[in-house]
Amino acid sequence: MTNSYQSLEYLAAKGTHAIPSLDLLRLHWSLTSDNPNDCIIILEDAKNSQSRQDPYSADHTINQQPATHPPVSSMSISVDLLDQYQPDWIDAHEPHADPDDFPNQDDHLCPIFDDENTITRCCGQDRPKPGPRLELLAPKGHFVSIRQYINTVHTWLRSMDDLLRAAEGVVSCWPLELEYHFIVPVASFSCLMLESTQTWTSEDYSREWEQAAEMARKLYPDVIHPRD
Ligand SMILES: [Zn+2]
Repeated sequence: MTNSYQSLEYLAAKGTHAIPSLDLLRLHWSLTSDNPNDCIIILEDAKNSQSRQDPYSADHTINQQPATHPPVSSMSISVDLLDQYQPDWIDAHEPHADPDDFPNQDDHLCPIFDDENTITRCCGQDRPKPGPRLELLAPKGHFVSIRQYINTVHTWLRSMDDLLRAAEGVVSCWPLELEYHFIVPVASFSCLMLESTQTWTSEDYSREWEQAAEMARKLYPDVIHPRD
């Protein structure tokens, strides 16, 4: 059987930009636990942030649905916060090389530069690596389902918790504290724009979910009823 689905990147090169499926947009996703059941909520209607909410479970019917519209056979996923980590880290530490601004810097905390005059180590930290990529590949003949998307992406993001917290705190050189966590806005499904909940109030959460519903209404103006 030949695979009738194409990769996200192939479709984009042909001018078709896949979007998150309406089912994917039903997810309210927080990175508070290793178990997706504990930190993902499924809305009855993606376009209504006040609609009924169920906790995610592995046997929910949403799992079989495609993660994208149109469905794709594979996709590459990045995290904006981690793509920005290296350049932001360099910007944050380069001023430490200036003896006028930092005259009393301890030697072992001073910047070290490579042959291309790019800072490689400073303040006891190595320069962060470039942002990682996750390749999601559906089984042959299938599309990337919501089950595959959640299981793989959730595990991946949780495995990078320390890195995400360090990246969030790059300017202050102080990682995001454990009492805060990240939200996964599923509208940004292939280039994840994680949001830290530091300083968030209940109004911020409400605004976040209303913005997600607004995105669903904008992307799917003609779909009236929720699927189930
Ligand atoms: Zn430094």
